[in-house]
Formats: sequence, C-alpha cells, structure tokens
Amino acid sequence: MSETTIAAVATGVGEAGIGIIRLSGPDALVIGERVFRSTRGKPLGRYRPRTLVHGWVAGAAGDVVDEALVVYMRAPRTFTGEDVVEIHCHGGQIAVRRVLDLVLAAGATLAEPGEFSRRAFLNGRIDLAQAEAVVDVIRAKTDRAMAAAVHHLRGELGAAVRVIRDRLLVTTAHLEADIDFPELELEVQTRNEVAEACRWCLGEVERLLGGARQGKLLREGLRVVLAGRPNVGKSSLLNRLVRENRAIVTAIPGTTRDLIEEWVNIGGLPVQLTDTAGIRQTNDPIEQLGVERTHEALSRADLVLVVIDASSGLVPEDEEWIQRLPTAVARVGVANKIDLAPDFESSALSEALGGAAVVRVSAGLGMGVPELEQQIARSAGLHDTAEEMAVNARQEECLRRAREHLASALRTLEGGLGSDMTSIDVRAAWVVLGEVTGDTVGEDLLDQIFSRFCIGK
Ligand code: GDP
Repeated sequence: MSETTIAAVATGVGEAGIGIIRLSGPDALVIGERVFRSTRGKPLGRYRPRTLVHGWVAGAAGDVVDEALVVYMRAPRTFTGEDVVEIHCHGGQIAVRRVLDLVLAAGATLAEPGEFSRRAFLNGRIDLAQAEAVVDVIRAKTDRAMAAAVHHLRGELGAAVRVIRDRLLVTTAHLEADIDFPELELEVQTRNEVAEACRWCLGEVERLLGGARQGKLLREGLRVVLAGRPNVGKSSLLNRLVRENRAIVTAIPGTTRDLIEEWVNIGGLPVQLTDTAGIRQTNDPIEQLGVERTHEALSRADLVLVVIDASSGLVPEDEEWIQRLPTAVARVGVANKIDLAPDFESSALSEALGGAAVVRVSAGLGMGVPELEQQIARSAGLHDTAEEMAVNARQEECLRRAREHLASALRTLEGGLGSDMTSIDVRAAWVVLGEVTGDTVGEDLLDQIFSRFCIGK
C-alpha cells in the first residue's frame, strides 16, 4: 500500500458541466474534509461511504472556491483499492484548477500519469491487461474498438492466460518430480501427458495471437492513402467516403499541395484516409515538399487506393505512377468517373497492379462506394468474430515468446531429451505469459506501460 495520497483532475480539459478531482491514498478522507464543507455542516466521514454529499469547496481561511458534490469511497473496494474521494465541481478550467490546488495544499501529491491505474494493479484490483484496457477504452475511435477494449477491461484476456498458466504449472510439477526422482524415469504416460499439455497450451497461445492483428486494426486503425495523378477524383472520393461514413475527427487542414487526413468509421474499423498531392517530378520547392509527404504517407500506408479516371482509361502517366508505389504495400484499384465510361474494362488496371482487385465507382454520383468500402474492410483482414481477444503489441510479444518456448519444449520431448530441458522451456513459457497479466513483471516494464497513460487515469 502506498503511503502518499495522490490527486489529479480525472475529467477532460475544457469547459464542461462538471469536472472531477480524484484523490486516492490513506489521507484521502482527511484531505477531503479539509477542503470541503457539507451543506449540513457534517464532516464528510460522518456520511455513509459512497453517498454523494452536497456542499462547498473552500480554502483554509474559509474562502469558498466552488459548489460541489463529494463522495468518499472506503478501501479496499475502490478502483485503486485505497481510500478514494472524488470532488465533483463545475467543469471550468479555473474551477477545476483551483480545487486541485487546494487539495494539493491540503496534503495531496499530484499524481503521475497512470498512477491511479498503477495503484489499482499493484493492489490486485485489476491485472495488467485490464489496466492497459483502460487506455484502450479511453482512446477507442469506433464502437467496435470500444467493444474489444471492454472485453479486456472485464478481464477476459487475463482469464484465458491464467488457464494456460495453471496447466503449465501442473506440467512443471510433473517434470520436476521426474528431475528430483530420476530413478523413477519419466514414464511414457507422463511424457505423453506433458506433450499433450504443451500442445494444448500452444494451441491456446496461437488462438490468442490470432487476435493480434485484429487488435492493432481496432486500436490503431487502417491507414489508407488515395493516390493517383491530378484530376482523377481523389478529393471527390475522399469527400464521398467521409460524407457516407461518420467522420471520427475533422480534417487536418492543409493547402492544396499538402496532405488531407480524415478518420472515418467503415464497418466498425477506424480508417484514416489520406489524400495525396500526387507524385510528379517537379522543381517547384513547395510542390516538392508535397511530393515528399506523399512518399512518406505511402510508405506508412496499410492500403493504397490507386485512383484512375475511367473516362480516359489507364494512361501512361497512371502506369508510371503505379511503378513508383512501394512494393510491399497492399493496393486496390479504383476506376472513378464510371458515370462517364459505363463500359470501362477493369482488367488492364488490375494487371498493372499485379492482379489487385479493382472497384468501379463514381465519386460524383456515389456509385460503387459500398463495394469500395467492403473491399477496404476485406483488404484489412478484419474478422467478424474473436474481437474479444484483440491483443496489443506488448501482449503479442509475450505470446510470441511463449509460443517459442512451448514449441521448443515439444521438440525436446519428441527428441527424447531429458525432463530438465523441457522443464526450462515450460517454466519460461509460464513466466512470459505472466507478463501479459502482470503476475511476473519488473518495475521497468511497469514504468514503461503506465507512462503511456494520461494524468488522472
Ligand atoms: P483530384 O485532383 O484527383 O483530387 O480530383 P478532384 O476530386 O478534384 O476531381 C477532379 C474533377 O473531376 C472535378 O471537376 C470533379 O468534379 C470531377 N469528378 C470527380 N469525381 C467524378 C465522378 O465520379 N464523375 C464525374 N463525372 N466527375 C467527377
């Protein structure tokens, strides 16, 4: 248990109906009572815990700062596992700031980023995967990303990992009995049981790893770049996609030579659309800058929409353009202005793109746009199920290491080598899986994880 009592603003910055200042630690109640006068004149600690109490926040000299509703929640059944006091004052920047200042002057320490969640983890209220899910919930850009984060918040990843770890622990015990009493020899049956357990655990780890790409997609979104020579209709297409799919944030303003970026929600997948200035050889320094940015955007893209003008067909300038695309990036052909060329034949474009799918659209009239969206979702490889196991990059790394150890344990068993070798790998898999839930982590890793949080979380 920590000895300090931390405080921070738990709500967002800016104007709002209310703002919440949260305190956690052994002196939460004492400090809360120092800064708060209830309307009835009773000290906060005399009310039943978890009751919202109306009153006034005031300094030591009795100078009233704001009206507030205050709640005291007693340890250990709180988010952090410590005594918690929340002061709900008005949501103005000054109001919130002054209440926080008072609380700090009354003995609280300003919380570090993620310190509330870190305390919740250290006090065993949540596992590490749940702590990380707090950030994912806060940052979720679509309902679907939110749903995946909530699964983690409920501890489902931790639960799945714990089942695997339990089985590995039993397996280690079998193996170690064999090492300690070698005269008994590892019975064929035990050896088979150990192999069976390792295979089962490997299968489970694989299943969880299957959610890694899904998790990355839902958390970070898909980066889609619209590319093609000028006037083929890239901006029109971007506007059409934004209009038909609720935009998540507004466009980042740019000049005509700059890049335009928009986040849209395509079937629950957060998609960042980037319109490019087009790649052209140029000596104009400003345009050159646009070209460089285009190259940069293309190199970071998950998918490129190669837009051509169907009414002019595939022209040499388009082909030149296609040749300059980074080879590794996935691509989809878009034949735009199909309203002007209803008989457009897609095969030449598909062939130029190495056999990629081609969608025929009219950005102007909105034709073919649903098909394009489906194609974008398909290229991303987003599944309809299993989103509950959407693991993050750190968890993926732990799972990969566990997979290596388990595969190595199986090779050792199959090669007829000793129990001690197998045991080392099985134990190592158990340890790295513990990093997913936080059962086996060091301070450094915790610092790294919680520093990604905002203050007040
Ligand atoms: P960009 O330079 O590639 O971004 O192209 P724009 O989106 O600015 O479009 C160039 C021109 O093509 C504009 O005059 C658009 O109105 C027109 N345009 C775009 N999409 C379509 C379409 O689907 N059909 C027709 N007929 N015209 C289009």
